[in-house]
Amino acid sequence: MGLFDVHAHLTDARLAAQEADVLARAEAAGVTTIISNGLNPTDNAAVAALASRSSLVKPAFGLYPVDAVLPEMLAMGEDYAYNRNPCPADEAITWVRDHIDECVAVGEIGLDRYWVPEPLWELQEQRFRELVQLAMDADKPIIIHTRKAERRALEVLIEMGATRVNWHCYSSKVKFGRTIAEHGHYLSIPANARKAQNFSKLLATLPREQVLLETDCPYLGPVRDELNEPANVAVTAALASELWDVPIDAVQTQLEANFEALFGFAP
Ligand SMILES: [Zn+2]
Repeated sequence: MGLFDVHAHLTDARLAAQEADVLARAEAAGVTTIISNGLNPTDNAAVAALASRSSLVKPAFGLYPVDAVLPEMLAMGEDYAYNRNPCPADEAITWVRDHIDECVAVGEIGLDRYWVPEPLWELQEQRFRELVQLAMDADKPIIIHTRKAERRALEVLIEMGATRVNWHCYSSKVKFGRTIAEHGHYLSIPANARKAQNFSKLLATLPREQVLLETDCPYLGPVRDELNEPANVAVTAALASELWDVPIDAVQTQLEANFEALFGFAP
């Protein structure tokens, strides 16, 4: 048992280039489980390969909500700053279906109305629903990325009856974050929570039973312009100890119980 990171991107080239060091620093910080999330078939395959090299890493296979409509976006002449391996959605979803038994969660998936233009929202939602159904049929937890569509994403998940859900990097109103938690969903707090008021407020006010830790590394580090990595979940655990006014051991015990309740195994 130990600390965990439910949302990492260890396959990002910047982290992959120093894989052994990143994993060693995570272990030294007390991290025992890192869930590396896939974005598309190419990335999912890289996540699977990484998980087979390290017992610390558990794979989540997904289809990033922008990647879910990326070929259509590019065909419309839309620009996407992180343009990577556009893959037809049916192929990408089939990939997840074919490998569902190898992952500990389906993610990241969701709705993104920040990058994706309105004419594609319906198509994006249709693909999101397919992936949610796939996860539910296989009894896998779901890791959600949603931007500018939090309300709609929750509606869809409730309508479909999805209960094993973690919201990664939830960045909308704190009050709605508490509504999400009331539905039994989890919210993972990133490592920059001390300086990001929205996240520290969430951490302080969410029911403690619904809180998890993540980094979204290499993004969202606690130190500006410094590459984020899983070891930094310890920074958020320390912040939780302050905000909850309980010893770090009690924070860890609570978080481990939360992780096990969602993922079905101890971190
Ligand atoms: Zn992510």
